[in-house]
Amino acid sequence: MSYVFFDLEWNQGYPRSEAEKIDEIIQIGAYRLHDWQDSGDAFSAWVKPGIHKKLHHQVKKLVPLEQADFKHAKPFRRVAGEFFRWCGQDARFFTWGTCDARVLDTNLCWYGMEEYLDLEIYDLQRAFDLLVLETVNQTSLEAAVTALGLDAELPYHDAGNDARYTALIGRELVRRFGRLPGEEELDRLEAQLREQLRLQAMEAADRDIHTLLEVEHPVMARKCGAFASEAEGLKSRSARIYHCPSCDNLLCGGNWYQVGIHYVSRSRCAEHGRYFGVMSFHEERFERVQGTLRVYPEDLLPDDLFRLCRQGGKRIEVNQMPRKRHRSGSGRFKGFRRKKAAGEGKNVRQ
Ligand SMILES: [Zn+2]
Repeated sequence: MSYVFFDLEWNQGYPRSEAEKIDEIIQIGAYRLHDWQDSGDAFSAWVKPGIHKKLHHQVKKLVPLEQADFKHAKPFRRVAGEFFRWCGQDARFFTWGTCDARVLDTNLCWYGMEEYLDLEIYDLQRAFDLLVLETVNQTSLEAAVTALGLDAELPYHDAGNDARYTALIGRELVRRFGRLPGEEELDRLEAQLREQLRLQAMEAADRDIHTLLEVEHPVMARKCGAFASEAEGLKSRSARIYHCPSCDNLLCGGNWYQVGIHYVSRSRCAEHGRYFGVMSFHEERFERVQGTLRVYPEDLLPDDLFRLCRQGGKRIEVNQMPRKRHRSGSGRFKGFRRKKAAGEGKNVRQ
């Protein structure tokens, strides 16, 4: 058994056709450990470009190499063959992120080497993100090396060096956590983490909304309703449509985010910027609810509030709320509803 950490550098074309969009591997780098205490050995080779003859200017900026470096490079089929022979029969594969696996697959297919498409490749970045930083964001290789306090004297964006860094991270994760979690365990960790982040966001948003309502004066406030339900109130025009407090532009709030007992939506005046509507309900007589809409301009809100509402709140889509119930006998709507019902009937028959 060996653990092979690999990294690829690739070039892209200037897309004039589909074929120009393909990411072409120009370097394969790998680092192999025979066990988790092993000091390891390295593989690195340039690939002679066969699809894009010129280096893309963005690749030039990132990868420290010149057109001349390809003079003695071998074509992809030979380099890939040597690489897989070097890996051996019982290798387990690791990369940083999922891009390298995608690019490898495309290149293997392009050159008709589908026999290597069945590789199982472990995404070490995901394990690092969930175990070490407890984040759902994708950490760069460089940031991960720094976070783990590993030696970083080699330049990045060389496939050989990046593969070595990936191996060092893998070894460090095993040292710290005993082993690398499997895919199902990573899925579970990620679900837990997302739920935890959602609850944190909701608590923070709830706190900020209460402070906002207590401390700041809205630029506009009005009563809406009464309604048969909160859902009906949120859908109502009186809750969603209002004038910009600075001009006469008509604004419309988008989807609502429920945070605790309040609902928040966002609108925008082309001239005066963003506004936020906060809707709160209280019970009225006869099992009906009345709403209060308060509108605040962006600069009165804590910076992060709407992001927190979106992350932690329950999204209530304005287009998916139940249709307003109409009293029988309101002729204009009856006709409209009948037409729609007839249309639905047709669909069912088909
Ligand atoms: Zn305005």
